[in-house]
Amino acid sequence: MADLTSLTLAEARDGLRAKKFSAREIADAHIAAIERARGLNAFVMETPERAQAMAAASDQRIAKGEAGSLEGLPLAIKDLFCTDGVRTTASSKILGNFVPNYESTVTGNLWRDGAVLLGKTNLDEFAMGSSNETSCFGPVQNPWRRKGSNAPLVPGGSSGGSAAAVAAQLCLGATGTDTGGSIRQPAAFTGTVGIKPTYGRCSRWGVVAFASSLDQAGPFARTVRDAAILLRSMSGHDPKDSTSADQPVPDFEAAVGKSIKGRRIGIPKEYRVDNMPAEVEALWRQGAEWLKAAGAELVEISLPHTKYALPAYYIVAPAEASSNLARYDGVRYGLRVEGGDITDMYEQTRSAGFGAEVKRRVLIGTYVLSAGYYDAYYLQAQKVRTLIKRDFEEVFAKGVDAILTPATPSAAFAVGEKAGADPVEMYLNDIFTVTVNMAGLPGIAVPAGIDGAGLPLGLQLIGRPFDEETLFSVGAVIEQAAGRFPPPERWWER
Ligand code: GLN
Repeated sequence: MADLTSLTLAEARDGLRAKKFSAREIADAHIAAIERARGLNAFVMETPERAQAMAAASDQRIAKGEAGSLEGLPLAIKDLFCTDGVRTTASSKILGNFVPNYESTVTGNLWRDGAVLLGKTNLDEFAMGSSNETSCFGPVQNPWRRKGSNAPLVPGGSSGGSAAAVAAQLCLGATGTDTGGSIRQPAAFTGTVGIKPTYGRCSRWGVVAFASSLDQAGPFARTVRDAAILLRSMSGHDPKDSTSADQPVPDFEAAVGKSIKGRRIGIPKEYRVDNMPAEVEALWRQGAEWLKAAGAELVEISLPHTKYALPAYYIVAPAEASSNLARYDGVRYGLRVEGGDITDMYEQTRSAGFGAEVKRRVLIGTYVLSAGYYDAYYLQAQKVRTLIKRDFEEVFAKGVDAILTPATPSAAFAVGEKAGADPVEMYLNDIFTVTVNMAGLPGIAVPAGIDGAGLPLGLQLIGRPFDEETLFSVGAVIEQAAGRFPPPERWWER
């Protein structure tokens, strides 16, 4: 039998339906692959017994002709989604051994449709980061390495464990969350597909909050079709999340393979940033050529407030984070470090429980929200946010269907390379992705090429609100033109 871990999610789905193999066999193949890949540090919790039990139940439902749309398909879940009875940490010491007694809506939707939980994946602490280096469990290694080098590379962040697990064929798909790029950037760094849907498409209920007005869940997969299949299951209105959108969920998979003839694709001139590697620039041009060849019409567009997006994001996101993280006080969840009195206990707990980057965000957030600074920073950033949103609205009003940009300003970098004294080095990674969260729009990253060092590079497509279908149609054209590249060599198994 062919290696069951190298199937796409769609192939596995179809093979299970045709009874070519069982859900138990697929689960076992992935459990074994995860064991062999512990060196990647992609998982912070493996749940093999649960996976086997869920797979056995899937096999029974398949036998009875009651299979759901994801029946028997093993997935990995970012450890930011609460999972009933399975430890959930947000990769933070402060959550300790917190075991939720409830299930996030998004993961609940996946299990409803028959998917199988393989385990929880590593991430930057509270999803704050772009490299997975802020995790209390240590960094994740990117399955990809530079040609002729053994230097460990980051998988991107914050959903680095999920991206690495999908790229290394440890699961058929995974969940991520994206507040400023945490799905799209790691997808680009690992040669996987990642989509952040429109704000409100997926429920935030049961997802550990970072910045509530920006956070969105979305899938990682190895193909555009697989991402479409997963997103359909994850999406849907949830009365438990007041920002969840009451919008019909289309069959996203049907958009894959649809013609893009006559669709208008915008190329924003503001995304041509200083010091962009020539290879990234060339790939962007190549992507535009591919879309043109498929019948799309390319238009030069302007998003004039792009340059303010990063500074505004790094005010809004920490502000919301400082408020959301106030609940970790040693009383309600996880870690408690006793102190002389209750204030001392709070202080001891929070200083021991939070890592340096989270502390930085709490400090920045508290500062920009404090009396006297609120107007100068937070209010100003909110105004900028409105202008960024308006830039997109104006472009879409002119008939642009989607916008093509690079996904990241570079390929994956080395562990330690940007985690130095200046945090802005790291923040600059989000330059192409944060605008999309600020405007609440859907964005997809699709692998589009390999650079001279042998590392994957991705292109990003940004769409109109609730028009993920166009992103899947256009993304599939890029995928087809680029050709699916072979998976990384399994050096971690040696
Ligand atoms: N890298 C960004 C940050 O650190 C985005 C993280 C995310 O999307 N969760 O805030």
